[in-house]
Amino acid sequence: MPSTFTRSFDTPSYKGTVTVPTGLFINGTFVDGSEQTTIDVLNPVNGKLLTKISEASAHDVDTAVKAAKEAFDTTWGLNTAGAKRGELLYKLYTLMDAAKDELTALEALDNGKTFAWAKDDVEFAISTVKYYAGWADKITGQTLETDERKFVYTRHEPIGVVGQIIPWNFPLLMFVWKIAPALATGNTIVLKPSEFTPLTALRMCVLIQEAGFPPGVVNVITGYGNTVGAAISSHMGIDKIAFTGSTVVGRKIMEAAAKSNLKTVTLELGGKSPNIIFNSADLENAIEWTAHGLYWNHGAACCAGSRIFVQSGIYDKFLEAFTKRSQAIRIGDPFAADVDQGPMSSEAQFNRIMGYIESGKKDGATLHMGGNRFGTEGYFIQPTIFTDTKPEMKIVQEEIFGPVGVIIKFEDEDDVVRQANNTLYGLAAGVFSQDVNQAIRTAHRIQAGTCWVNCFNNFAPNIPFGGYRQSGIGREMGEYALEHYTNVKAVHINLGHRR
Ligand code: NAP
Ligand code: MG
Repeated sequence: MPSTFTRSFDTPSYKGTVTVPTGLFINGTFVDGSEQTTIDVLNPVNGKLLTKISEASAHDVDTAVKAAKEAFDTTWGLNTAGAKRGELLYKLYTLMDAAKDELTALEALDNGKTFAWAKDDVEFAISTVKYYAGWADKITGQTLETDERKFVYTRHEPIGVVGQIIPWNFPLLMFVWKIAPALATGNTIVLKPSEFTPLTALRMCVLIQEAGFPPGVVNVITGYGNTVGAAISSHMGIDKIAFTGSTVVGRKIMEAAAKSNLKTVTLELGGKSPNIIFNSADLENAIEWTAHGLYWNHGAACCAGSRIFVQSGIYDKFLEAFTKRSQAIRIGDPFAADVDQGPMSSEAQFNRIMGYIESGKKDGATLHMGGNRFGTEGYFIQPTIFTDTKPEMKIVQEEIFGPVGVIIKFEDEDDVVRQANNTLYGLAAGVFSQDVNQAIRTAHRIQAGTCWVNCFNNFAPNIPFGGYRQSGIGREMGEYALEHYTNVKAVHINLGHRR
């Protein structure tokens, strides 16, 4: 019998008790992994054990896929009207709304992000479920013009069993970005959270049960990427896979899909997003949004504005003010009221970031501020800024996924557009300018799936998000996400034309 994890909080941010089942959620119930092994979930504040969760195997993936297929063929898929799917999603939205503080506390505990940041994520997750609840009965095809001897229409049918694999940086939000459009369109799901941060996904399974989704519609299996993740991406019974994570793993998933059943693949991968600040920018506004662009979620955001380009006329002023702004960030316990930044989510991630800081120093960039561990335990890192970089340096080219930015001086528009586009990625970008022509012109010239003008890291459920180039394939959110979860069928009806 799988057990549960219970935690009582008595913090300035939250007081209360949260309980989470720690098994695999397959066919509507929590079960142990078939091999009875477990994974340790650690507290990023001190590296100590929070709980153990079940470790799934490839065999459990099989069981989950069977349950998902059975549900698709009997209780979900084409057997449940869109209005009913919308009702269930709406019910899930109300349950999440009622459990909002619990979900927030659990997310902050598991991931290390501050309670305030976790709260924003939870609000966003809740509004995303509500948004897609509204879409469920609005999935329509077209009737197509032919001649009077024939009637043709299209249907947007659910794809079937979809595999979804998500990372640890926004555990609940990514869970919802994945499941909500898939459910609205009538698919069934086998999802793997990151084993570093599984707790909110497991709590969501209870809410999914309570909302009344038929067993097997959503299956959540915790396990490692190279076993469970690989089994999902190569499974012959999974018709589509949606992944968020690193470009390296995204490539592996495409390969596995190509070598198995050619399942369709959507990928939301890394980035090294440019943030361009022109002489004409409103400096105060640019500084606040640039800080949000770089330090939001302790820099562990795929769209982080980590390459900050500043025009020469305001470079010195910007650097001075941005340094002050960065030094004001208060690091500490995610549940404390006066803290802006918690620990990184895992030791592996902490080590990766410190490795990048070392590489920046070794390659000859100037470490302008930060660069060290904060405190003596847990995975805390100081906000860090490099200047005097060269375009080919690792810290300029590669995704660091921590509170580490490079500030680069530029002369003119052509120069900065060329430098900003000098990357393998193309997820997002920011442009700060009060000259409307310059702002729009530059936003259009940057090769990225999102361009923010005079803001950064600013989202809504109805706005698509995704990458150009090696930042991904497909779009999440908005109406755009729906097309990745449906097959289009053309139905030709002959109205009496004899051959
Ligand atoms: P990752 O290795 O890409 O992991 C993302 C998810 O994929 C996890 O659930 C992971 O499981 C799983 N996975 C790993 N290997 C797999 C495989 N062969 N087949 C199928 N699934 C597999 O990312 P990470 O290790 O968490 O972070 C590494 C770097 O990725 C970060 O530093 C960052 O640069 C980037 N990243 C980007 C995003 C984004 O939002 N675009 C999010 C997270 C990370 P395991 O946890 O067991 O490996
Ligand atoms: Mg990994």
